[in-house]
Amino acid sequence: MDFHPDEPKTMKIMSPLFVRSRSIPLLLLSLLCSISTTLAHNNEDPTTKTMEDFSGYAIHEPPHSSITNTLPYSLSVDTQSIQNQIDELSTFSDSPAPSVTRILYSEKDVLARRYIKNLMGLSGLSVREDAVGNIFGRWDGDEPELAPVATGSHVDAIPYSGKYDGVVGVLGAIEAINVLKRSGFKPKRSLEVIYFTSEEPTRFGISCLGSRLLAGIETLAEALKTTVDGQNISFFDAARSAGYAKDQTDLTSVFLKKGSYSAFIELHIEQGPILEEEGISIGIVTAIAAPASIKVDFEGSGGHAGAMLMPNRNDAGLAAAELALAVEKHVLESGSIDTVGTVGILELHPGAINSIPSKSHLEIDIRDINEQRRNHVMDRVHQSAVAIAQNRRVKLSEFKVINQDPPALSDKSIIEAAELASKELNLTYKSMISRAYHDSLFMARISPISMIFIPCYKGYSHKPEEYSSIQDIANGVNVLALTLSKLSLD
Ligand SMILES: [Zn+2]
Repeated sequence: MDFHPDEPKTMKIMSPLFVRSRSIPLLLLSLLCSISTTLAHNNEDPTTKTMEDFSGYAIHEPPHSSITNTLPYSLSVDTQSIQNQIDELSTFSDSPAPSVTRILYSEKDVLARRYIKNLMGLSGLSVREDAVGNIFGRWDGDEPELAPVATGSHVDAIPYSGKYDGVVGVLGAIEAINVLKRSGFKPKRSLEVIYFTSEEPTRFGISCLGSRLLAGIETLAEALKTTVDGQNISFFDAARSAGYAKDQTDLTSVFLKKGSYSAFIELHIEQGPILEEEGISIGIVTAIAAPASIKVDFEGSGGHAGAMLMPNRNDAGLAAAELALAVEKHVLESGSIDTVGTVGILELHPGAINSIPSKSHLEIDIRDINEQRRNHVMDRVHQSAVAIAQNRRVKLSEFKVINQDPPALSDKSIIEAAELASKELNLTYKSMISRAYHDSLFMARISPISMIFIPCYKGYSHKPEEYSSIQDIANGVNVLALTLSKLSLD
């Protein structure tokens, strides 16, 4: 969906020359930051797209060919290529355009993977895949024995969603590498682009499957041995059909050790309206809220809606309604705007107008960036469930915490690097909290992390109207590139 047909097709951003990382004395040979935008068909523009520059090989020699391990003197995003890639990737979909549906290990998912691996190869990255299909593209640094700096996101898409969620963080990461290569930059630490398997829970009900496994969550590796999808296809049969998990059911090979990366930073559309509303180019994520989910079942005696008098009832539906209101109350009592709670599922049985509900089922999602505060709300919800069951003489037959992931705080030095990059690029930025969660939440268990957000149209996400302008994407890619370069010199 193109809301801005007159968007510039290429954008070049000059960044200060030889700006050293904060651990090295700051040496500014040039403070001039200038942004120039030109149209792709302007042949005088050195950033005009060619397959050669798309491939990541420098077509314009840097003025000082001896430049190594200094920050890039000039960053130029090939906006036309990245927009073409976003559009092309969106055609690997099981639903008609403009919607995108790309489910784990489906034929379209396999095609998308092939497409990304090909781009990684064209950018000169060495590509490796693990047993569940996390894909890694590495650019070796001058000191490859040091822990690399990583970036990346996901490409799977829930049914009838859009073409930017996750995709911007994978294609943008590859383009950030191209930007750095074109600038003549040489990393000290290796830089790695990661394509995470199945961030969305669509097929097997498990979100961030790839990054959870990278983080070494053994209970998940074990659970996947018996996990099936809605068609009763096992996880391993599905993985094998896509060329993964060949003849193994042991997924411990996927686990990465803590410290495998010196930093991980994910570029992503905001999926909220704040940046667009405030006219700010870049969001730098300081914390990622983590969800906890709870399943609750109440059981009463049911009965005829006419014959059963009110004093004699034990209505499981009213118990559920009361608990839903209690969730709201306890969340608000936390006093923090960052605490949120939702009853997204509330089912009554038998679900007939003339029958008192004999069973009710609720699913509750509670999120916060403060784990203690979130867990306190969960305790209060549990106390209310017990009290409501008692008062209404229904049975609390289940109160099950399905997951309780810890939130993640971003690393201070990555935040500072991203802030400095935004400043040097003359882009407005603000600190933000990610209220949706991402692969970064699980990468936080093995690496320092942060995220870079870019504006998206009206905050739309997970629907076909999802949109980010190429200008905003280019800004994000430039900030990512400059941040990666700083972190790689640390
Ligand atoms: Zn995403």
